[in-house]
Amino acid sequence: MQKPNILLIYTGGTIGMIKDADSGALKAFDFDNLLDKIPELRLLDCNIETKSFKSPIDSSNMNPEYWAVIAKIISNQYNTFDGFVVLHGSDTMSYSASALSFMLENLSKPVIFTGSQLPIGDLRTDAKENLITSIQMASLQNKGEPVIKEVCLYFEYKLYRGNRTTKINAEHFEAFDSLNYPHLAESGVHLNVNTEYLLKPNLGKELILRTAMDTNIGILKLFPGISKPIVEAVLRSQLIKGLIIETYGSGNATTESWFVDLLEEAINKGLHIVNVTQCAGGSVAMGQYETSSQLKRIGVISGKDITTEAAVAKLMYLLSKNLETKDFKTTFETPLRGEMT
Ligand code: ASP
Repeated sequence: MQKPNILLIYTGGTIGMIKDADSGALKAFDFDNLLDKIPELRLLDCNIETKSFKSPIDSSNMNPEYWAVIAKIISNQYNTFDGFVVLHGSDTMSYSASALSFMLENLSKPVIFTGSQLPIGDLRTDAKENLITSIQMASLQNKGEPVIKEVCLYFEYKLYRGNRTTKINAEHFEAFDSLNYPHLAESGVHLNVNTEYLLKPNLGKELILRTAMDTNIGILKLFPGISKPIVEAVLRSQLIKGLIIETYGSGNATTESWFVDLLEEAINKGLHIVNVTQCAGGSVAMGQYETSSQLKRIGVISGKDITTEAAVAKLMYLLSKNLETKDFKTTFETPLRGEMT
């Protein structure tokens, strides 16, 4: 049996930092010497190659152009490698993992995002475990075929579907959660994979790279006291093509007529409005309460149990396809990459 070939893509973030012993300042780690710096990697039963962004970035500077760079690296090397591990800052990792899930259509190999809360050179670092186990997860094979065939995120002993995750803590090592979908695997004494929750893509289809993303979108988080001029300013913007409204509970919003009328006017003019709940877990169910029936009536799209991060990626992705309004709504409400139930 041949050892799996894994490509490690370093984009930036804390994971790739090391403390200068003299000055104590954090600086980017040289990934070309990865195996010398982390000799434990030699014990893994796979061949590892690395590719690094020319200038690694803090993930707060991540954007759709960088997503396309990552997606292109993967698609160009798709036949050479059995799995991909993307090292990424944790701050926007859930957005990137979601975006890559849409960009890589018919993916049938593992793409695992990981990062860390402490730099790899720190004594108490979580980076080594996250990196080593991500590589192991990406190397898992069954009868010569990868076990994981989707975009995932690995952090602090758990492997999640990437487009289901949210960063929930800026301090704890357990920085991510997936509240609406069970984790895909767990690392303990053994690696336990919950096979029943994995995506099962159609293996007969070729990988299609879709890097077009339309960024003319916005997010409007509702709060008690939200004012008409502000909502008006957002909805009547000439540029906006898609808007996520973050609503209360199971998709509820104020029933005040100015609010519903403004939304209806915008929808009639062609704006795609998606309803996503502000709650960390649970689903939008428009029509369950009086406070959401009006949204359903005027044609607001249900985000169901999608995360805001995945909704951003899906909205950008679908807008770039120039679908008819009705098709747009149906397509958004359909799970494309396991991002909603
Ligand atoms: N600010 C960093 C980033 O997201 C934090 C991290 O790497 O976890 O790039």
